[in-house]
Amino acid sequence: MAGLKLTGVEKTYAGAVNVLKDINLDIEAGELIVFVGPSGCGKSTLLRMIAGLEKITGGTLEIDGQVVNDVPPAQRGIAMVFQSYALYPHMTVRENMAFALKLAKKSPDEIDAAVTRAAKMLQLDPYLDRLPKALSGGQRQRVAIGRSIVRDPKVYLFDEPLSNLDAALRVATRIEIAQLKESMPDRTMIYVTHDQVEAMTLATRIVVLANKGIAQVGAPLELYERPRNEFVAQFIGSPSMNLLPGEVVATGAQTRVRLAGGEVVSSVPTVDADLGRKVNVGVRPEDFMLTDGAPVYTGTVDITEALGEVTLLYFKPEGGAHPVIAKLPGIHTGMRGQAVSLTAEPDKVHLFADGQSLLYR
Ligand code: ADP
Ligand code: MG
Repeated sequence: MAGLKLTGVEKTYAGAVNVLKDINLDIEAGELIVFVGPSGCGKSTLLRMIAGLEKITGGTLEIDGQVVNDVPPAQRGIAMVFQSYALYPHMTVRENMAFALKLAKKSPDEIDAAVTRAAKMLQLDPYLDRLPKALSGGQRQRVAIGRSIVRDPKVYLFDEPLSNLDAALRVATRIEIAQLKESMPDRTMIYVTHDQVEAMTLATRIVVLANKGIAQVGAPLELYERPRNEFVAQFIGSPSMNLLPGEVVATGAQTRVRLAGGEVVSSVPTVDADLGRKVNVGVRPEDFMLTDGAPVYTGTVDITEALGEVTLLYFKPEGGAHPVIAKLPGIHTGMRGQAVSLTAEPDKVHLFADGQSLLYR
């Protein structure tokens, strides 16, 4: 069992490029933590610091209660799986998986047992005598995972392991990784991705990274339902949450906000929603409903996309901003060019001021 604790962790690359600052995070043993964030936000850097492949330039990293800042990678009890599989092309699957154990001078019996066990877990038994070139991309990635399993690490680190796979294989391999985790409940996994669907489906908790720090940490649905800032609100969920500028016109048990195209009421208690305060009202596309009554938003449908189970309506953007998007259940055709009024339930409305949520802290 191994938990990890990051305290004030920083990274400045040579040349004084500060990439991460003041990262504080407690990871419990047995968790599957996912780091998400836009490209270049420092996900790989953070993972590589945990692995020991990159120097920590500030703060401390503890594994199992022991500070490991200066402990070499091989002695940290962790294994890392990369986006590129980096298999040895001239070795069979069995030899690839056995390689690290051979280097560690394990006995042939021990090596055989570890490889057999890992191959079973990953359903690689039929391919043990093949070379990597005779495997599919998904099978190669499983061999790469198998190489780390044979060492029986306490912590597994994955850096975008599925991003080289095509869409169908990505889904299948994602499910395999979830099953692998279930088969090893006491092993800790940290998984990096820029794909929010992977994050939502795999994670016990998601860490959203942005602007050199942690934007929010929480269970997947907690981030979806109670984002603490506009960044997380728009990063989690697809299409992104709509943000409509408005002004607070009534406070109390309910906060009423006047918008360009209507009014909206939030029934969630607010912090600092003073009269006259300029706010952004957040409504997820899937929380919009058509209405004949008082609208939150009224606009002309510019484009529709019928996906079968839902239809996306894109409204004509005003002033070059992002279009407002509504996601309606079912098939809606012939709405292009029509004026449409939308509303939302008061408990589904989000309010932000200066980028921070007025509802969830
Ligand atoms: P992510 O994995 O989230 O896409 P990275 O951790 O790879 O982001 O990179 C974060 C930032 O650090 C980027 O701006 C990148 O250019 C910079 N960076 C990464 N590696 C180095 C390095 N060895 N030297 C200097 N800057 C680096
Ligand atoms: Mg990366």
